[in-house]
Amino acid sequence: MDLNKLANALIPDESIRPLEYYEARYPERTLEKGAHVTRLAPSPTGFMHLGNLYVALANERIAHQSGGVFYLRIEDTDEKRKVEGAVEVIHASLKYFGVRFDEGADLCGEYGPYYQRQRAEIYHAYAKELIKKGLAYPCFCTEEDLEKTREHQTENKLLPGYYGEFAKCRNLTEEEIYANLAAGRPYVIRLRSQGNVDVKHTFHDEVKGDITITENNQDVVILKSDGIPTYHFAHAVDDHFMRTTLVIRGEEWLSSLPIHIELFKVLGFRLPKYGHNCSIQKMDDETRRKLSKRKDPEASLSFYREQGYHPTAVRTYMMTLLNSNFEEWMLKFPDKDLEEFKYSIGKMGKSGALFDILKLNDISKTQMAKLSEEEAYDFLKAWANEFGTAAQKAYFADKAYMLKVLALCMGVGGKKRRKDFICAKQAVETIGYFFDETFAPAYAYRFDNALVKKILLSFKNAYAYADDSAAWFDKVKAVAGEYGFATDMKAYKADPAAFFGNVSDVAEMLRIATTGLANTPDLWTIMQILGEERTLARLEKAAAAL
Ligand code: GLU
Repeated sequence: MDLNKLANALIPDESIRPLEYYEARYPERTLEKGAHVTRLAPSPTGFMHLGNLYVALANERIAHQSGGVFYLRIEDTDEKRKVEGAVEVIHASLKYFGVRFDEGADLCGEYGPYYQRQRAEIYHAYAKELIKKGLAYPCFCTEEDLEKTREHQTENKLLPGYYGEFAKCRNLTEEEIYANLAAGRPYVIRLRSQGNVDVKHTFHDEVKGDITITENNQDVVILKSDGIPTYHFAHAVDDHFMRTTLVIRGEEWLSSLPIHIELFKVLGFRLPKYGHNCSIQKMDDETRRKLSKRKDPEASLSFYREQGYHPTAVRTYMMTLLNSNFEEWMLKFPDKDLEEFKYSIGKMGKSGALFDILKLNDISKTQMAKLSEEEAYDFLKAWANEFGTAAQKAYFADKAYMLKVLALCMGVGGKKRRKDFICAKQAVETIGYFFDETFAPAYAYRFDNALVKKILLSFKNAYAYADDSAAWFDKVKAVAGEYGFATDMKAYKADPAAFFGNVSDVAEMLRIATTGLANTPDLWTIMQILGEERTLARLEKAAAAL
């Protein structure tokens, strides 16, 4: 059969240039020895999974720490999964978490285009080459034909797929092929696999170590009937011409590795190094399962932004999942920049990484407590501007006032830092009582309303804004004593039945009246921040509500 003629008939793409052109157009990169070229290659589905950040961080760290390049390639060959604006989402969400690309989609770079749909010419050139060499062929099987084969294989407990005797179009004659073409029957291009499933090899996976690989014998589709390549084929061509040296990707791709190895081989390309990292799992009652896009809100990267997790906290937590010695390093050097940690592929987990939101929350609290006054203000403000209510946005109009609130609630600007807040949403919601627009308390006291009312009014009359904390507390004690509450804890403990309660119960009433909450930071300071007028108004309003 004239394979050149067949290749031209099957792929009549005029734009194709001689293969040498592509090799020259995308030359080997000049990099230091040991430098890695890595990539993130997501489909533009609009959804960014925590796993995307996980893989991105690993690839980014390896590239940048080795003096290499980290790029973004958009794998948009599957039109059905494509969502408008998805690439912006990819950039924005990864940028938020500090993942920087050196080149790629929507950035500059010498190895583009970085959208697979724009690289048809290259895929066609190489598919054509495989046809010319007899390593690929047209397949005219319909969905029904394939379905029949599948049923037969299932019934007879045979390996599924298009191979051996089931590869019906593998040995079509020249006449049959041209008759099909003349009849206008749609076709795909398949690899003519040279492999044998009885042959096994040892393969060195950068993450998992040595693993056993069975040769591929599937005549996988390389070009679909619309001329668009499959992921398998496109990624092989792209990783070659973008000069990728190392592919760290999810372990769900491990089962496709034999196909990829064969594709690189038939294309005559050097295989990059591969490392398959384990998926992120979580405990569901007693069982471990994959973090699921459908079931777990925390599987989505947007969850962390909406909640206002500090990006450094998420990044830090991801590093604890990615490198087993990271935590030790972090404890040893709590103030060092994450970038200084020496990332190592060898320390990546071989089996599932267990996601633990409590641990992330802990890291987040520590991170929030590290923010300077300005950083805390800017961070919370940015969150409120993007996700907060109109009232929450307005909190930030008076910066001096907000800084006082943050000094009290987070300890910013001071030596003793509080670790109350996990994320911006929680912080902004919690400080809502400092702002009249959102102050709508559901006053819940533990004492008789009539008694509380008297106490509130009595304190209101005694309150003086100029009092220092000690004078203020003396007044709280005086009111407590007046209404039968112990002011001396020893006396109270000796005979609790002799009192209604003690001074801290009275303080709690005042706290609920002015903040709506039973637990807050120092109440004297809160009243100082609220100011005299507002404090008195709140006491008055609370008393009137009883
Ligand atoms: N496009 C694939 C995905 O969406 C990329 C796999 C790879 O990194 O090779 O996960």
